[in-house]
Amino acid sequence: MLDSVRVRLTVWYSAVLAVVLVLVSTTTYLIVRKTSMQRTDGDMAVLADSFLVTFQAELADDPSTPASGVLSAARQSMIEHRSNGDVFVILSPGGDIIATSSEPNSPVTKPDALMARTLASSEFRHFAKMAESKEVSLETIPGARGRFRAYSRQFKANTQTYLLIILHSLHAQNEMLETIRLTFTWMILLGLLLAGTGGYFLARKSLAPVVEMGTHARRIGAANLHERLPVLNANDELGQLATIFNDLLNRLDQSFERQRRFVADASHELRTPLAILRGEAEVAMSQNGRKAEDYLESLGILHEETSRLIKIVEDLFTLTRADSGQYLLSPEDIYLEEVVAECAHSVRTLAREKNIELSIDASSECPVHGDQALLRRMILNLLDNAIKYTAEGGRVEIACRATAVGFEVDVTDSGPGIPPDLQSRIFERFFRADPARSRSGREGGAGLGLSIALWIAEAHQGRLELVRSDATGSHFAVYLPGPVGALAGTD
Ligand code: ADP
Repeated sequence: MLDSVRVRLTVWYSAVLAVVLVLVSTTTYLIVRKTSMQRTDGDMAVLADSFLVTFQAELADDPSTPASGVLSAARQSMIEHRSNGDVFVILSPGGDIIATSSEPNSPVTKPDALMARTLASSEFRHFAKMAESKEVSLETIPGARGRFRAYSRQFKANTQTYLLIILHSLHAQNEMLETIRLTFTWMILLGLLLAGTGGYFLARKSLAPVVEMGTHARRIGAANLHERLPVLNANDELGQLATIFNDLLNRLDQSFERQRRFVADASHELRTPLAILRGEAEVAMSQNGRKAEDYLESLGILHEETSRLIKIVEDLFTLTRADSGQYLLSPEDIYLEEVVAECAHSVRTLAREKNIELSIDASSECPVHGDQALLRRMILNLLDNAIKYTAEGGRVEIACRATAVGFEVDVTDSGPGIPPDLQSRIFERFFRADPARSRSGREGGAGLGLSIALWIAEAHQGRLELVRSDATGSHFAVYLPGPVGALAGTD
């Protein structure tokens, strides 16, 4: 049950409220009890004053012997102060009870049975004993009719020191305190019940959007990834949570869409060479008595298409690993101009086949920290494109040089250029400015070469840009940072 946030919130809320209520009511109760006791003590002191004033007046009027004068003055004073129900006790200088008023209406020298038990109790005797040494003393003592507040005052009569003790029953006060205790207890219980119920419904209402979000989110899958969570109030915490979740869904949706397109494009690219392979194989098998040259020609086509397939699959594999972050670079200290020279050497046969003039400028030293195989692949892709898209007898140049911030490789050709409206898309996967031309023959690229080259440049914290492309040709440039600080976190 405590797994529910609603219940946990309610329990916490009620527990805190309970602590606060108990603290407040206990403090209030203690203050009331103390104040009431102080008032009782004050009243008893005033009563003792008044009693002794009456007593002294009665004593002065009484012509009898000193001992009987004290007794009758005490009785008279008790009669005059009987109305409030307090019990007066007069003790002789020797500590004996000489007069007491245990019945409010008729003070008698002999107390009633219950009061007699109180006056005979050890607590009362102990109090009376202590009071003999102090002018005034106060104490709460147990009695036969409940607890009493005992007040004592020494007074002089006929040169002797007597003791006046007033016993005030705390019964009424205890009843009042009991009522307060009960009232507080019920109020706390009722308050907790109301607050707990209210808190539970409040928590349920506040968390309802979360539950709704959960239900909605559970329904969202690959098939309906375009659906979004409802945002009731974009400014509150739950609204912000829903917005964040929706942003996440947006990114997931886009990523899914990219993956879907990638798979669709990849399948499409693979279909053409596979269809050619099957067609060629069928032709070779269907014709009996073919000449050896015909078979050789078919095998040549099969070989060419298979190589094309392998190249596409390799490129796809590279991009997939790059996307998932699984392609770990193996950086080392290398000289970029040497890599450029090697690449130019590799493509010179291709250039010669098309009678293209290939010039190379890689004289300055360019020490970089990078993955040699990948940098080689990037430069070869650019050179391959330059030769592929340049007409017979054209010109391709490659140059490598150090700049103020790093190194630059420029590949320039005298090809037909890329139409201005398509230039921004050439780094997209599977994009070809002229698909019909690209798909046929040796020039049939899958539109992945520049995507891979761009990824390689960025994986080296560099850039690949199309600097210029017009009717006179195209100019691609790779910018790589200097050896210091390059390739952080790639191995
Ligand atoms: P592809 O395998 O088709 O060459 P790329 O990703 O390497 O794929 O290039 C994408 C497209 O950009 C090419 O299809 C081509 O239309 C265009 N392109 C790339 N390099 C050049 C270039 N040097 N001259 C003209 N067009 C180019």
